[in-house]
Amino acid sequence: MRFLLLLLPWCCTLTALAERQPLQIGVSINPLVSVVAAIGGQAAQTSLLVPAITDPHTFELSPRQLRTIERSDLLVFVGLGLEFWARNFSASQRAKLFLLGKTLLEDNPHVWLDPTLLRSRLPELADRMCGLRPELCATFQRNLSTYQALLLQLDQELALEIKGWSKKNFVSYHPAWHYFAKHYGLTEIGELKRGHMSDISIQELQELLKRSHNSGASVFLIEPRGATQQVSEFATRLGFEVVEVDDLGLAGEDYISLMRRNVGALARVMK
Ligand SMILES: [Zn+2]
Repeated sequence: MRFLLLLLPWCCTLTALAERQPLQIGVSINPLVSVVAAIGGQAAQTSLLVPAITDPHTFELSPRQLRTIERSDLLVFVGLGLEFWARNFSASQRAKLFLLGKTLLEDNPHVWLDPTLLRSRLPELADRMCGLRPELCATFQRNLSTYQALLLQLDQELALEIKGWSKKNFVSYHPAWHYFAKHYGLTEIGELKRGHMSDISIQELQELLKRSHNSGASVFLIEPRGATQQVSEFATRLGFEVVEVDDLGLAGEDYISLMRRNVGALARVMK
């Protein structure tokens, strides 16, 4: 009994200490780091799992990243097949997951490139954080409101810019801009990559070129990952004006700056 009484203050101090530790959040892709950090503020520590320069479709987990997953209280992933390397996650690892694309029925994972889709999922993310740290819930909810307002402002700014473009159709390297195009009234005529892994066939390429010609699409979106130089030369030979956009961003680049940079790049050829 005496031993238990001695142990009590020690155990409770430990609990209090654990509560003061920042919430550990593993984030699968670079553009979501700043989003999660904005809601978590000082009370959360985010760790990126797939480095910004890496193609998330061909990524493999290292022992260091596995340790990050084990250490995390919460894992913010996109889902919809993007984190294929999480297929064999254990039940306890799965229990930590928050999936950004959970409410969508489509199989295209590039949800974050539509700021309104991203925004619609953040209250649930803040609720998950609240469940893990009830004593910090008011902070998470306050941070959420501030960031939601910034995303709304970003969306209005991008919509106003895109509304003024004379070109509305484009062809892209891989189907990253599907939700972005749908939301801002643009049309993605097609892609060189079927899904993420394989190239389209010669016949599909011929059909794509015919569709682009008929729709007047003259702009081709390339990305900084993959065979950028070869794809750019190929698209130029086919008569497209090539523009580089980035679905994942540079290391440390925040989501709002990334979206502004992409729309700025597109504006130079679509206006
Ligand atoms: Zn992709």
